[in-house]
Amino acid sequence: MKYDLIVIGAGPAGLMTAGRAGELGARVLLLEKNPSPGLKLLITGKGRCNISNNTFESREMIKQYGQNGAFLFSALHQFSVAETVDFFESRGLKTKVERGNRIFPVSDKSQDVLATLLKYCQDNNVEIRTNVSVKEIKKESNKISSIVLHGDTELSAYKYCIATGGKSYPATGSSGDAYIWLEGLGHSIVRPRPALTPINCQESFLEKLEGLSLKNIEISLWENDKKQASEFGEAIFTASGMSGPVILNLSNHIANRNSSYELQVDWKPALDREILDKRIQNDFRKFNNKQFKNSLDELLPKSAIPVFLELLKVDINKQVNLVTREERNRLIDLLKEFKLKVSWVHGFEKAIITRGGVNVKEVDPKTMQSKIIDNLYLAGEVLDVDGPTGGYNLQICWSSGYVAGSNIGQNIE
Ligand SMILES: Cc1cc2nc3c(=O)[nH]c(=O)nc-3n(C[C@H](O)[C@H](O)[C@H](O)COP(=O)(O)OP(=O)(O)OC[C@H]3O[C@@H](n4cnc5c(N)ncnc54)[C@H](O)[C@@H]3O)c2cc1C
Repeated sequence: MKYDLIVIGAGPAGLMTAGRAGELGARVLLLEKNPSPGLKLLITGKGRCNISNNTFESREMIKQYGQNGAFLFSALHQFSVAETVDFFESRGLKTKVERGNRIFPVSDKSQDVLATLLKYCQDNNVEIRTNVSVKEIKKESNKISSIVLHGDTELSAYKYCIATGGKSYPATGSSGDAYIWLEGLGHSIVRPRPALTPINCQESFLEKLEGLSLKNIEISLWENDKKQASEFGEAIFTASGMSGPVILNLSNHIANRNSSYELQVDWKPALDREILDKRIQNDFRKFNNKQFKNSLDELLPKSAIPVFLELLKVDINKQVNLVTREERNRLIDLLKEFKLKVSWVHGFEKAIITRGGVNVKEVDPKTMQSKIIDNLYLAGEVLDVDGPTGGYNLQICWSSGYVAGSNIGQNIE
């Protein structure tokens, strides 16, 4: 039997494309090289899957996707955030909205998101084959004629969709295989690079802060002493730097090897220096007879205190009422501008997404059909469009996958 559609890659984009085309009556084969589909989807949102972002105005969504955001306009119009939520809710997956408009399943389980997609495929007769890795794509003039699997089996269909993702977290299967095929087919690939990555810093005291997670903090990124960006929210210290949503978003501004970068953590963004000073003086009055080292409990998380004491260079045994104004100012400096020298960002092994991919000028934004190869569609992270943390990247998969699947299903040969 010749399939109407072969989808390569059973991640969120491939599952959506396959399910939707099947729903419209296409005979679909979905190929996945891992033993099971959706490995990366399972680790999204720390296993909770941040499905999307509760920004119902498509224009507002598009702003988040940077310079290629306009490419998504039609796809988001055809399958918006509201329709995405409705897609999951109508299939029994209740959703909730958390801080930063992040949409999660109420169950907090990414398995439930994957199960919903698998059921969608199953209900629509999609044949899923796992442990099959596509090796090569053959073309005749401007059409794909067949695909060759490792093991040399050849398969053919009327149409094909490449949904193989990017190169980040290669252990999940996204190893960038498609870039080579796509160049062979005549597409141009915008250089793939790791994005949304943890940041490495030079300070040795970071070891002592490892695992400390901060909420409601503001971190700014400085390039050659010039402020580049700042983000408010959550972050976490690692043994060699920082990670968490705020840091992942800031990492995208670190691009120039010849620049020197610095992070500045504001531990008390809600308090300006003057109010912070009053607060510190109040604390010190309260702890009047205590030693300085025992007076910071209400100001700082426990594990941060030894690091602050080390950096402040104040006699830690002195009585708190003997701390001078100058020493207090040093404490305020540290609280408002805790500086970390950036060594570099992580590579693909820890990048949340890949920036770059198939040049979107070569793809029809209304259908996700290649403008170069007649019977080829593209969906998900393989495309050169990406967003910040907060559910924006999965929304690309849902919208592009739905649009590709709809177009293929509506035009069965
Ligand atoms: C740790 C982590 C957390 C994340 N959390 C979130 C989040 O909460 N919210 C969010 O919006 N985004 C999140 N992301 C990003 C999101 O997971 C990706 O953008 C998304 O998975 C991309 O989906 P995709 O279907 O395009 O590609 P993938 O999910 O990468 O799927 C591609 C599939 O293709 C298969 N494949 C590749 N090559 C071949 C081949 N040759 N033959 C057969 N199959 C092949 C792969 O095995 C893989 O299963 C996170 C990413 C990571 C790494």
